[in-house]
Amino acid sequence: MNDDCLFCKIIAGDVPCDKVYEDETTLAFRDVHPMAKVHVLVVPKEHYANVAQVAQSDPVLAAHMLQVAQRIADAEYNGSFRLVCNTGEDAGQSVFHAHMHVLTGQRCSQEVA
Ligand code: 5GP
Repeated sequence: MNDDCLFCKIIAGDVPCDKVYEDETTLAFRDVHPMAKVHVLVVPKEHYANVAQVAQSDPVLAAHMLQVAQRIADAEYNGSFRLVCNTGEDAGQSVFHAHMHVLTGQRCSQEVA
């Protein structure tokens, strides 16, 4: 746990969230500023700065996060989803705890997000 990290506080239950999935290693909750009908953030409970660091340190966990994304898209829509992983400040990352944005609930445009 990183005391200065918003998502660590959400995982600890110190900041509320609209949880959609949880297991031993992973939590998924709705984004407060949704960019699609369904916009869920999939986060590892262990603190990593971004998803690339998860993939490097624990590739099984990175794959599991992707499986959770699929599970959410299956439960909330028809299995289709867009996955966005902003990695680094210049890419638009604003919360430096690894997360995958799962966007679904409607047909996505072909534009790059
Ligand atoms: P990033 O820009 O780092 O890729 O994505 C961070 C996301 O976290 C943003 O989409 C933002 O809306 C979301 N977010 C920021 N603060 C909170 C919060 O307190 N609760 C929830 N559920 N989402 C948040």
